[in-house]
Amino acid sequence: MEFKDYYKTLGVSKSATEKDIKQAYRKLARENHPDVNSGDKGAEKKFQEINEAYEVLSDAENRKKYDQLGSQWRQGGARRGPTGGGANVEFDFSDLFGGGGAAGGDAGGGFSSFFERFFGGGGRRQAGPQPQAQPPSQQVEVEVSLAECYSGTTRHLEITSPQPCPQCRGAGVAGNGICPVCRGAGRQNGTRKLEVRIPVGVTQGSKVKAQDVVILVNVKADPDYEIKGRDLIRKVSVDLYGAVLGTEIKFKTPLGKEVSLKVPAESQNGRSFRLSAQGLPAAAGKQAGDLYVKLEVTLPTKLTDREKELFQELARLRA
Ligand SMILES: [Zn+2]
Repeated sequence: MEFKDYYKTLGVSKSATEKDIKQAYRKLARENHPDVNSGDKGAEKKFQEINEAYEVLSDAENRKKYDQLGSQWRQGGARRGPTGGGANVEFDFSDLFGGGGAAGGDAGGGFSSFFERFFGGGGRRQAGPQPQAQPPSQQVEVEVSLAECYSGTTRHLEITSPQPCPQCRGAGVAGNGICPVCRGAGRQNGTRKLEVRIPVGVTQGSKVKAQDVVILVNVKADPDYEIKGRDLIRKVSVDLYGAVLGTEIKFKTPLGKEVSLKVPAESQNGRSFRLSAQGLPAAAGKQAGDLYVKLEVTLPTKLTDREKELFQELARLRA
């Protein structure tokens, strides 16, 4: 990448004041403006360079970074470690500019790769009106309860994302120069409210689209239900006598409805019962899941002498 001498581009000295820079820019911009040099590719390129130089030098913070960068650049991109005695430490320029650097070449933006790397920060635009680019979609995670997967729900989100600059409407230029509001970026971070309807039948990892935002659904862990795709697994305790002799168990569905289930006699520990289509509801091309009820047999403890006798008798009968 080539180092850009912005002072030279504007024909001013390193010690030029803000006013000097502005004057030089205005004069050069007038001379090289595309409106007065129509079809002159050289003037167009020069106009571009002038705008780029001015964008950096007209901003006190950018100018300071640029001056610092210039001195580092001449040292070949390397400097001594702080102790002075050690190895050369490679200088990472991105540290200087808060990670604002874009990748490599001139990405058709008109400004140089040097500018894009150190001052671009993303969405800078070429001077002159540009077609509105589609902003990239943003992903936001939303946590929902299991019951909400059945019922659907609504969330009100605050989304922060780059918005077209209200001053220049995304062009990056206003009047004869760089837009003062967005400093040529054409975009500014803005917050907007977004109402998101989460439909019936979402599950872990479902994606819901709301405008340009993708909502990634994360289902809150439920104390009673394990979620596997659209199937639900619920463990229900049953005592030894119920498992052996048969019983009826009651439990609540994720929506709070009470369900009773007949447990046949001689049901083993871990036996599972499938309640067809009682899992997560059907949604776009996916069938409703099933609800599995899994028995957990609990054994009696703190047996009395009499109970021990009876168990011993049962054991003898089976021997
Ligand atoms: Zn603007």
